[in-house]
Amino acid sequence: MTTANPLSDQTAVVTGASRGIGKAIAIALGKAGIEVVINYANSPEKAQEVVEEILDSGGKAYSMQGNVGDEKSVETIFKKVLERSGRIDILINNAGITRDGLLMRMKTEDWQSLIDLNLTGVFLCTRAVARQMLKQKSGRIINITSVVGLMGNAGQSNYAAAKAGVIGLTKSTAKEFASRGITVNAVAPGFIDTDMTKGLKAEEILSAIPLGHFGKPEHIAGAVYYLATDQSASYITGQVLQVDGGMVMG
Ligand code: NAP
Repeated sequence: MTTANPLSDQTAVVTGASRGIGKAIAIALGKAGIEVVINYANSPEKAQEVVEEILDSGGKAYSMQGNVGDEKSVETIFKKVLERSGRIDILINNAGITRDGLLMRMKTEDWQSLIDLNLTGVFLCTRAVARQMLKQKSGRIINITSVVGLMGNAGQSNYAAAKAGVIGLTKSTAKEFASRGITVNAVAPGFIDTDMTKGLKAEEILSAIPLGHFGKPEHIAGAVYYLATDQSASYITGQVLQVDGGMVMG
């Protein structure tokens, strides 16, 4: 007799899941039997590859284009997901960009476009799933922040401000939703080998990482998977889990 997999009744939405960290998270959740919605902005082929990888492993997945930094687009994404899947158990707010530059030279546009996606996008998606999760009396929301949101970084004032904002948003929503069985946590990656970090000066960064190497998207996916699915994680909320090779301690 086979035991039914309780995860196979669940649906997860992963924003920015066509590449990098979001892709690894989607694959980890999908291979565990959770139906995964692969959100992306501009890479339909890459999103489809992620869908195929999950389907080939016997899982369930579909892709959903949409700009997470745009209110109307977010409303459409979650309306379509609810029409198709009927429920949302897990939301991973992962989509993010960088628009680096020293503050003195930063264009308002580079500040605003980053805040719109990396911070307001998390607010919009959280608000969009909240009603459904409150109805279900359960849900797990995991926001991808960054060690830069904890320690700051010259040349990334916009990114650091958004990621610090995500931590405040995580703690506040964790308090608002706790009595309704919904947990909200953040994962703070250090430097992870993805398109986002291509071209950074590796030697300088490596000297700040006690474990001596960049992380892989799968390191972040493992931490997210734990917070999203583990029974013991149902008693963890409002926390920031750093997965950073020891970059920021204390
Ligand atoms: P990445 O490789 O550049 O991938 C970014 C993902 O976000 C892509 O799937 C992209 O979709 C999607 N995206 C971009 N704009 C979007 C929008 N407006 N709406 C929806 N999706 C959008 O980045 P990553 O390194 O995996 O980073 C993922 C998250 O981890 C980000 O929040 C980032 O800030 C955070 N993080 C990364 C690191 C690191 O070292 N890599 C460290 C700390 C935190 P398309 O392919 O369609 O463009």
